[in-house]
Amino acid sequence: MATLTIPCVQPWSAPTIRDLRDRVHVIVGTERDVREYDLSADALKERSGEFRKKLSGGHHGARRRPRIELPDENPAVFDAFATWLSRGTVGQGNNSYLRLCHLYTFTMRHDVPLMRNTVIDAFLAAIYRSETMPYDVTKYLEHEARDSALRNMIIDVILPCGNKEKVDEWEVSLAKGFFQIGFHAPVPLVPFEMEGDVRGFIEQQMKDHVCDRYHEHPSGNQLARSDHFFADPPPQGQGGEGFTRL
Ligand SMILES: [Zn+2]
Repeated sequence: MATLTIPCVQPWSAPTIRDLRDRVHVIVGTERDVREYDLSADALKERSGEFRKKLSGGHHGARRRPRIELPDENPAVFDAFATWLSRGTVGQGNNSYLRLCHLYTFTMRHDVPLMRNTVIDAFLAAIYRSETMPYDVTKYLEHEARDSALRNMIIDVILPCGNKEKVDEWEVSLAKGFFQIGFHAPVPLVPFEMEGDVRGFIEQQMKDHVCDRYHEHPSGNQLARSDHFFADPPPQGQGGEGFTRL
């Protein structure tokens, strides 16, 4: 299988867990599919701006494990986030384009910039592997992530490599604006073959620029907290303690 390695100035590292006993109970989904997680508060606060906000109020009892309910989130998507938190990957073998889009919009809702980078890399790797591009993904992103790095990257691959007919069609729809896809509507993604030399293009003109063009490397709070990793890397396997599936 063709694989792609994308260089990054700030590769993933395990979050800093200062207090192993400081855990958060997260309940995701509703009724038919509810999953519960026991996650490190430090890891959540370091990697997600949204969790940092939720957990910094101090209105939870000092000795009680905070409980956060996310009924509107898809447990399968949250599962990928929990895995990413402890291992830095978003899974392999199941990186369908739509799944990656759902993970991407999750990172926007929960402000998880480093996971966004992982998803961008996985998306480009999926294009590289399959040499196809799902046309409808542009509609989905037009609606859900219009000014996003992921959408910009897809456009940058489609324009030189895409199937001419599809690109024309897509450009017309882009010009009109595409807003008829509801948030929860199932989006049929039919991949189309690319016409150009997709792998050559990605290898020669994309992969070394992904980090500066499409990644986000947070500064301030998040960077400061992970800074010391450069001098004092965490022991192997420490990341695995970041979460426990209940
Ligand atoms: Zn990077």
